[in-house]
Amino acid sequence: MAFTLPDLPYAHDALASLGMSKETLEYHHDLHHKAYVDNGNKLVAGTEWEGKSLEDIVRGTYQAGAVAQSGIFNNASQHWNHNEFWKMMGPGENKKMPGALEKALTDSFGSVQKFKDDFAAAGAGQFGSGWAWLVKDKDGALKVTKTENGVNPLCFGQTALLGCDVWEHSYYIDFRNKRPAYLANFLDKLVNWENVASRL
Ligand code: FE
Repeated sequence: MAFTLPDLPYAHDALASLGMSKETLEYHHDLHHKAYVDNGNKLVAGTEWEGKSLEDIVRGTYQAGAVAQSGIFNNASQHWNHNEFWKMMGPGENKKMPGALEKALTDSFGSVQKFKDDFAAAGAGQFGSGWAWLVKDKDGALKVTKTENGVNPLCFGQTALLGCDVWEHSYYIDFRNKRPAYLANFLDKLVNWENVASRL
C-alpha cells in the first residue's frame, strides 16, 4: 500500500507550552515527514516492495552492518519512526505514568529516574542523526538503545516502546544546539506514558 502522511494526533500548537513549538511541528511533520512519505512512494513504485506493509518493507530492506542503507529503507523506516513518534507524545501537563509501566521500568533499570538518565544519555551520545529508544527485546527484557539515521527496533526484532528523534530538525528551532535539554524536556513533559504503556 502507498505510504500516506497521517495527521498529527493533536493540533500543531498543542505541545507549544510543553517545549515543542508550532513551528517545529509544522516543519517536522508537514515538511520532513511528508518528504519521507513522498520519496518513499516514488522509490517503492514498480519494485518488489510495492503493496507490502510498511513493517515488512522496513524489515526486508534493512542491511545489517551496512554503513549506508538503501533509499527505500531510509524513507520507509523514517516514515514508520515518525508515525510512532507523534503518538508517543501528547498534550497536557502532568501526564501520569501507568503503574504497570512504572513497575516494569523499576524492575529493569532500578528506578524510573535511572531509566530516564540512561535514555537521555543514549540520545545525547548518538553521534549525528538518529534515535534513542526504549525497547522490549526478543527475550522480553526492557533495554535502552540508540540507532543511527532511520534504523529502528524493527530491524532487530524488538518492540519499540518509546523513541525520541535526535535529528537536529527535531530540536533546533526550540533548543538550538542543546540536545540534552531537548531530551530532558521530552522525558519530563512531552512523553505520552499511556501510549508507551500500551506497547508493553
Ligand atoms: Fe524527524
